[in-house]
Amino acid sequence: LKRWVLRNRPAGEIKPGDLELVEEPIRDLADGEVLVRTLYLSLDPTNRIWMSDQDQYMPPVQIGETMRGGSLGVVERSRSDRFKQGDVVNTGLGGWSTHTIANGAFLMPAPQLPGVPLTAYMSVLGATGLTAWFGMCDIGKPQPGETVVVSAAAGAVGSVAGQIAKLKGARVIGIAGGKAKCDWLTGELGFDGAIDYKHEDVGAALDRLCPNGIDVNFENVGGDIMDAVVSRMNNFGRMPLCGMISTYNDDRRPAGPTDFVRVLMHRLTIRGFIVTDFLPRAGEAMAELIPWVTEGKLKWKVHVDQGLEGAMDSLQRLFTGNHDGKLLIQVSPE
Ligand code: NDP
Repeated sequence: LKRWVLRNRPAGEIKPGDLELVEEPIRDLADGEVLVRTLYLSLDPTNRIWMSDQDQYMPPVQIGETMRGGSLGVVERSRSDRFKQGDVVNTGLGGWSTHTIANGAFLMPAPQLPGVPLTAYMSVLGATGLTAWFGMCDIGKPQPGETVVVSAAAGAVGSVAGQIAKLKGARVIGIAGGKAKCDWLTGELGFDGAIDYKHEDVGAALDRLCPNGIDVNFENVGGDIMDAVVSRMNNFGRMPLCGMISTYNDDRRPAGPTDFVRVLMHRLTIRGFIVTDFLPRAGEAMAELIPWVTEGKLKWKVHVDQGLEGAMDSLQRLFTGNHDGKLLIQVSPE
C-alpha cells in the first residue's frame, strides 16, 4: 500500500517535502471490514486548505496523517456481508492512498448508470455537480432573462454551474484563463459570452457583455475578479460564494469585496456554502442532473493523470489552470 502523508504545513505554494509518499504492507481485515483498491482520486482546490491550519469548515489534516481526498474504488477483499470482491464503491474521503480499509457499514456502492463512465461519479454526478447545482439552484436562483456570471468557468464546478444557469433560461457569461477555454464555453457549452481574464480587462469586458448589470455571481475565484463582478451587481443580486481559489496559497486572510457598501445599497445576498451541508438533499439535485447528463444536455470534461506518485505535481494544475476539466488521478486500472 502506498499513501501520501502530510509532513509540513505548506507556506505559500506546496513544495517537495510538504507531503511524503510512504509504502507499507496491507494489514489483515477485521470482521465487517473491506479492503478497497483505489481507482480514482479526486484532486480539489480545497486540498490546499486542508493542508493548512487556518480556520476552516472541517478539521485540517494533521501532520503525519494520510492526505485527505475523495475517492472511488473496487472491493478487493471483504469481511462484510454488504460487499463482495469486485463491487465498485464510493469511499468518501478515502484519502491519497492506493488502498483503503473501511468498515463496510459506512461504505456506499457507487451508482452505475448504463453508458455513464465511472469518472462521471467523481465529477458531474459527484461532488462537483452537487456543488454547482446547490450553489446555482438553491442560492443563485437564476430567473429566465437574468444575467449570471461564473468565474473559473471552464473548471469542473464552473462549467457545470454555467450550463445549469443556461438550462434555467439565464444569460451566462464565463470568466476563464485563455482563448481555448473561452472558446469551449461559448462554442460547445452555449455560454453567451466568455472573458479571458489573462488577456482582457475583466471590468471593461463585463461592461460590454453585461449591459443590464449582473443578477447572479457564482464566485469561484475571489480577489480582483470578484471585485470586478460585485461592483456591477444589480439590486437584489445573489452571490453563491463557492470558492476563492486565487487566495488559497496566501498566508494572510484575503480582503473581501472592495465595494462592500454595494451589498447594502443594492441589497445583495452573499452566501458562502459547502457542498457537504447539502448531502442529505442530494436526491433533489440528482433528479435534474441525471436526466440532463443522460439526455446530453449537460457536458463535462475530466482530466485524468495516471498514478498516485504524481499526485503532488498534479494538484498544482488547479492553481495554474493547466488541466482541462475535473482533475482526477487514476490510481489503478478499472
Ligand atoms: P477547477 O476545475 O475549476 O480548477 C481550478 C481553476 O481555477 C483552474 O483551472 C483555473 O482556471 C482557476 N484559477 C486558479 N487560480 C486562479 C487565479 N489566481 N485566478 C483566477 N482563476 C484561477 O476546480 P473546481 O471546480 O474543483 O473548484 C472551483 C472552485 O470551487 C474552487 O474555488 C473550489 O474551492 C470551489 N469548490 C467549492 C466547493 C464547495 O463546497 N463550496 C466544492 C468544490 C469546489 P483558469 O485556467 O480559468 O485560470
